[in-house]
Amino acid sequence: MLKRLELQGFKSFKEKISVDFAETITVIVGPNGSGKSNIIDALRWLLGEHDAKNLRGDSGESLIFGGTNSSQKVSLAQASLYFDNSKKIFPLDYEEIIVSRKVFRDGTGEYLINQAQVRLKDVIDLFASSKMGARGLSIINQGNADLFIKASDTERRTMLEEILGLKQYQLKKHEAKLKLQSTRENLEKSKLTTEELLPHLRALKRQTSKWEKRDAVASELKTLETLYFQRKIKSWQESEKNYLPEKTKLENTRAELNKKIEHIQIQIQDIEKTKPQDTINSQEKSQLERELGGLEAELRFASKDKTVKKADANDFISLVIRLKQDLEDLKSLTNLELVFNKVNHFISEINQLINGETISKNTALISSLEEKIKLIQSRLTTLEIEKNLVEQKFLEFNQIIKKYYEDLRKVETEKEACIRELGHLSLKEERFHYDGNLLREQIKDANLDFNEFTPSISEGLLPLNLTEAENRLHYLKRELMAIGEIDGEVLKEANTIEARYSFLTEQITDLEKASQDLEKLIIDLEEKIGHDFNIAFKSANSAFSKFFKELFKDGNAEMILTENGIDIGVDLKQKGVSGINSLSGGERSLLSIAALFALISISPPPFLVFDEVDAALDEKNSRRFAELLKSFKNQSQFILVTHNRSVMEVAEALYGVTMGEAGTSKLMSVKLAP
Ligand code: ATP
Repeated sequence: MLKRLELQGFKSFKEKISVDFAETITVIVGPNGSGKSNIIDALRWLLGEHDAKNLRGDSGESLIFGGTNSSQKVSLAQASLYFDNSKKIFPLDYEEIIVSRKVFRDGTGEYLINQAQVRLKDVIDLFASSKMGARGLSIINQGNADLFIKASDTERRTMLEEILGLKQYQLKKHEAKLKLQSTRENLEKSKLTTEELLPHLRALKRQTSKWEKRDAVASELKTLETLYFQRKIKSWQESEKNYLPEKTKLENTRAELNKKIEHIQIQIQDIEKTKPQDTINSQEKSQLERELGGLEAELRFASKDKTVKKADANDFISLVIRLKQDLEDLKSLTNLELVFNKVNHFISEINQLINGETISKNTALISSLEEKIKLIQSRLTTLEIEKNLVEQKFLEFNQIIKKYYEDLRKVETEKEACIRELGHLSLKEERFHYDGNLLREQIKDANLDFNEFTPSISEGLLPLNLTEAENRLHYLKRELMAIGEIDGEVLKEANTIEARYSFLTEQITDLEKASQDLEKLIIDLEEKIGHDFNIAFKSANSAFSKFFKELFKDGNAEMILTENGIDIGVDLKQKGVSGINSLSGGERSLLSIAALFALISISPPPFLVFDEVDAALDEKNSRRFAELLKSFKNQSQFILVTHNRSVMEVAEALYGVTMGEAGTSKLMSVKLAP
């Protein structure tokens, strides 16, 4: 509630004045040009008006008392407005709120709330929080009393919405629409960009998804290769059994056979030592030689005998010598037969000689020779027996040794068979080593280390048989070849584009969500505005009709909702007048007042300032206006500038303003009878 206004140096008020406002109606009166409206300007200025034109000036300086012929100008204008805040009309923890404002000649100014310097915005916000303000319905000038009446349908609707506090929702709606528009633009842009990115991204993804597969393929290949080679090594190791035990066995057999052979050879050597001698018994032989020697001696002796022809004797002797010679050569039994033949031949030759004429005459010699020959013959027989004996021994010896040689042959044949077998096995062994080398090569080619394969590997690990595993390995290698090497640059680009794409996709989702939210907000706001407006409109309209009837005592007026806003329909039945344009100035003023009060009635502000809004009214209508004021005084505090007596009569406090000779305004309080 307004308590007091203090002015100093403001417009025509050079000296300090103080206006104490009544709780209900305060009226300011005075002649034209005395400065009444300057008080209203001060109120508007204090409420935060910053446009000099709305304060009937052209600059801040024009608000400062400018001086007259007889009064000095001042350097600053200042004003303070006191509010009773005991009912907490302002959301501040003070019983009294003082809003002050100063302006200096250089155009600078100051704003204070309870003596503390603040910004203009703080002042405006303070009043806005309590439905007050320099603009709007708080202060109505003579010139803008018919604001609602002369406004367009759209403006009327806007005014009503402002009074209802729906402007903030309209602003929010406007902001939401702008935001929706820019959101949709961004959405379109993002969609366009994603559409542009998509083919490139798809191409890159086709490439990189192959590479993604590469890891899986390479890993399967590695695992499978490892298992495959484990199995191969194991089976290769097992293949050693194909020859090794057999080889060891055969080698042992061969060693045994060698030993046997050696043993048989030693036996043969030993038996060879027992081989019978084929030499003639030396005793028999030397006996024979001696006997031949005797025979020779005897013949030599006979040759000296005159009865014996010398030639014949020599034949004998040469026979004996030849025979002796043969005997000397007789060293082995093999030529014994030959000797026998020679001896027999010798004997027959001797016998021929004996039977010849020459010797036959010498009987003694003949008998001696015959004796000797008999002896030789007997010796030969003995030798023959001996020879047979030796031959028998040979036969026996040969039989024995033959058996050993047969054994040797048999064992050697076994050994040869064994060596042949070993020869066959060596092929298998070579095959084993060849397979091993091949496996090593394969493992090396697969970039694996043969030595890292543990010998005791569970065979069950390989889930396929070897042929299936080989097929799978070939397939995986072909796959890897087909996939090719990873290009880091392409991968990087794919990641960047994908990140950008998913960022945009997320943004699109967010923007779509934001769009939906904004659309929903706009609908909600429209509903809220529409709902609140319709309710307020109905009550404002019925108030308008009611006040119209109270003021006009005739006809009817109503607000009509149109497509664009609010139209006003007036019908003065007695006069047969309908429509605003047909009304007189006073009637128009009265209609404006009815509309003003109808608007105020929706949400009465804490105070209302009317500056000569009743100027055009006649006596009768002024009274009706005064009655209307009275009926409203408990809802709002009124401050009026007027010339009307009827209005003065309803005032609780009355002030008179006069213009002094020095060109400065004076204020005086006129005490009214209670
Ligand atoms: P009406 O009844 O005709 O509306 P009023 O009482 O409302 O008159 P105002 O308009 O308040 O009169 O006062 C106008 C007077 O104030 C003028 O005489 C004008 O010269 C004077 N005035 C306005 N600004 C200044 C100023 N800065 N310095 C001195 N006097 C000023």
